[in-house]
Amino acid sequence: MTNLNNTSCTKPVVLCFSGHDPSGGAGIQADIEAIAAQGAHAVTVITALTCQDSSHVHSFKALDATQLQHQAETLFNDMSIAAIKIGMTASVEVVVAISNIIKQHSDIAVIFDPVLASGGGDDLSANDLVTAINSHLVPYCDLITPNIPEALKLTNQLADQAADITDNIELAANALLSAGCKSVLVTGTHSDTDKITHRLFQAKQMQEDFHNSRLPDEYHGSGCTLASSIAGLIARGNNSRDAIRQALDYTFQSLQYSHNPGKGQRFPNRLYNTDSKSS
Ligand code: PLP
Repeated sequence: MTNLNNTSCTKPVVLCFSGHDPSGGAGIQADIEAIAAQGAHAVTVITALTCQDSSHVHSFKALDATQLQHQAETLFNDMSIAAIKIGMTASVEVVVAISNIIKQHSDIAVIFDPVLASGGGDDLSANDLVTAINSHLVPYCDLITPNIPEALKLTNQLADQAADITDNIELAANALLSAGCKSVLVTGTHSDTDKITHRLFQAKQMQEDFHNSRLPDEYHGSGCTLASSIAGLIARGNNSRDAIRQALDYTFQSLQYSHNPGKGQRFPNRLYNTDSKSS
């Protein structure tokens, strides 16, 4: 008889700090699916509850920072965590609590998607949150994955209409590297070009560009999908460049197989590999 209780099958664990998107397109649900698709296991500490649909975030409420820190410590006491993914942080107190955790575990790779706005353009951050992120999270991250507006907002740069946007992106990435994070992947979907360029900046290394063709639709949860799949692949032992390359391909595929459960943006199909009904 087959032994279904196969104790030798262990999956690396990724700890996620993210908000809950009840529509299932972004946030913690996106993390769980994207990390599972890489063969890793997500454990989840919720930072915020949101009220949202496939078009908009109508409101959000940050959760209690003391309980959040206690929950993360409880997981660390129980499991070996291979990577940490941070998404929506929602309040200064939550940022400080997450910072306390990552500083205590400085040997673990931290991948941070600085969620400052929703896919539908709703603001999910205030200026004091950006300041807290810069002081308490940016210096301790291995990889930050902002889109272009997030990179500019984090580094306090207004996009200079007269300047080449490439210069603005480079200035922003270099400011984040100077603040102490090891790598910055600026995703390019918010540009207006047909071909999308994602730019990876690493201290003392050549910049590397990755290209995708532009898909016709708008998506909810693509940034979460990318950052979580990178975290899952790093947890599986890939170096950051390989993880980024594979995660960009995976995210692009999930968008090609996207579905549309609501009236707004399409959702990435993060389980397209296991979904025999996907077309
Ligand atoms: N996390 C949560 C909880 C959200 O509600 C959202 C957007 O609505 C995001 C992250 C960011 O989503 P995206 O991956 O589309 O940038």
